[in-house]
Amino acid sequence: MRIVVLGGGFAGMEAVRVLERGLRGRTDVEILLVSDRNYLLFTPLLPQVASSMVEPRHIIQPIRDIRGRRRFRFRRDTVQSIDFASRQVIMAEGSVRYDRLVIAIGGVTPTFNIPGVAEHAIGYKWLDDAAVLRDHLIDLAEHADHEPDPEARRRMLTVCVVGGGYTGVELIAELHDLFQSYIVPRYRGIDPGDYRLLVIEASAEILRGVHPTLAERARRKLWREGIEIRTNTRVTRVLDGAVEAGGEIIPVGLTVWAAGVVGNPTLAAVDAERDRLGRLLTLHTMQLKAHPDVYGAGDAVSVEGKPDASIPIIPAALAHARLAADNIIAELEGRPLGAIDFAPQGMLVSLGERDAVVEVLGLRFSGYLAWLFWNALHLWKLVGFRKQLQVALDWGLAQVFPRDTAMMRRPSRCTVCAHHASVARRPGAAA
Ligand SMILES: Cc1cc2nc3c(=O)[nH]c(=O)nc-3n(C[C@H](O)[C@H](O)[C@H](O)COP(=O)(O)OP(=O)(O)OC[C@H]3O[C@@H](n4cnc5c(N)ncnc54)[C@H](O)[C@@H]3O)c2cc1C
Repeated sequence: MRIVVLGGGFAGMEAVRVLERGLRGRTDVEILLVSDRNYLLFTPLLPQVASSMVEPRHIIQPIRDIRGRRRFRFRRDTVQSIDFASRQVIMAEGSVRYDRLVIAIGGVTPTFNIPGVAEHAIGYKWLDDAAVLRDHLIDLAEHADHEPDPEARRRMLTVCVVGGGYTGVELIAELHDLFQSYIVPRYRGIDPGDYRLLVIEASAEILRGVHPTLAERARRKLWREGIEIRTNTRVTRVLDGAVEAGGEIIPVGLTVWAAGVVGNPTLAAVDAERDRLGRLLTLHTMQLKAHPDVYGAGDAVSVEGKPDASIPIIPAALAHARLAADNIIAELEGRPLGAIDFAPQGMLVSLGERDAVVEVLGLRFSGYLAWLFWNALHLWKLVGFRKQLQVALDWGLAQVFPRDTAMMRRPSRCTVCAHHASVARRPGAAA
């Protein structure tokens, strides 16, 4: 008997962990994890990678290290399709048969077919995105430092984050810290008034899902720091060096796309029901509708009739995965299957150095204490003592030393550097 788990994110790793534990004595059961990346990414710290606070490698844990002496097998491969009839997963480097399958390949950020997003905006989902974003920002500062025209300088140093959810808000707060505590003091050609940070949100409010008093507290804090928030504003086009939003063309140096989560298009062709966001629909048992031998977990799925259990956050992904794995074990042992019982217990949003808003178990607080809580919880949740130590050291060192803003890629290798090239080509602007 072979159980195959697709995706090495929070949901996939949790499913494997629970399966291993529950099937310890079952040598007749093989567990195979397939993922296109060979590490688990701790997404909550991605904003701090973008702002050079934390080293990129410190927030990922190689799957083979997590596996240690556990018996599950890992295959780094890319899933392309699933044939439910013959129970086959089709991957880039071959196919594999399953008896039970857990789909946990996460979601993607939607572009809503808005022209220019793919060409001119940086995504903000994977480690590579955060590293590109970091290098790109630093390179813009390098160019702006010797740009004599103040208007051009301000345009270069305008960062527009599209999406006012907690990921967009945490990122803009981190970038504000980077500009204020590092770029302005160290780049002598850049003044405090030269940078502009902007969040554009299509709906009426930022931080949807966060308690309104905390969301308002966050909004006021960002406003005090000079961060512009435009709600009820739709981005209709992303251009090279500008965004079109609410009928206005806004000159920008960098556009970051953080506009929510939809289902993973990899499995768009497979025969399964989906919700309006393209996520696979599951029953309360986490089984796919019409495919009882296939389970789903995490951002890739939505539980029918349970919006609270379908929010794309880590605790929901873990709850799905635990239940999917438990139900597979129950099936093998001839026990009845359980049903999902999950509702978010709170929300934590970091607002940069020494500030956060937190709602946990009905308790709401903000400020320094909330920030300490945010840090402690995320450090505790990081997988592996080595990574915990590395991140704690990064945080500690950042209190004493300046951030390390050495660029890791040559600009010509950067995927979004057409803008840099055009800046550098302008007469008088080249170094
Ligand atoms: C910037 C950012 C910050 C966030 N911060 C928080 C936070 O503070 N708190 C919180 O609760 N949530 C946060 N989230 C959301 C959280 O990361 C997701 O809800 C969670 O990662 C979902 O887990 P998952 O396992 O379903 O998907 P993922 O973590 O996305 O994992 C999917 C896995 O599948 C693999 N995969 C994808 N496609 C294929 C394929 N075709 N073949 C093989 N493998 C594939 C991927 O490489 C990945 O390993 C954040 C998300 C982002 C982007």
